[in-house]
Amino acid sequence: VCERPVDLGVGPTAPGAPTIDHVLPKALGGDDHPSNLRLAHRHCNGRRGSRLPELHWPARFIVSDPAPLWPVVRRALRRPGEWEVVGLLASAREAEEASAWLAGALADVLGQGWETRVAHDGSGPWRLGVRRDPSARVAL
Ligand SMILES: [Zn+2]
Repeated sequence: VCERPVDLGVGPTAPGAPTIDHVLPKALGGDDHPSNLRLAHRHCNGRRGSRLPELHWPARFIVSDPAPLWPVVRRALRRPGEWEVVGLLASAREAEEASAWLAGALADVLGQGWETRVAHDGSGPWRLGVRRDPSARVAL
């Protein structure tokens, strides 16, 4: 969660003790699949758990066909490296702004290991995609 190493030898009551954190909290549909689990210091895990994240598109973006963000995140966790389309935007500028917002929001709420990108076929809307960085998986 804080990106610092976790010492597996620390006693269970210490703030830095190793715990298993759910990347996507169970309250938001996260499960116990290994792709959704990571090591966290006890105090980092507790601090994060007390502020369950909200993630909604800001009104300033006009997203047509927006996917609900948590189900997309859940799918992306299950399929690291695969791009999931989360929304269609009308212009390149708007799509890039939405991409930057989403990357920042995911990093704030879920930690590192997320990528966003904008794709366009030459006509039609710009597609905003998100994926879980395959190297972000924690080996348990
Ligand atoms: Zn930590």
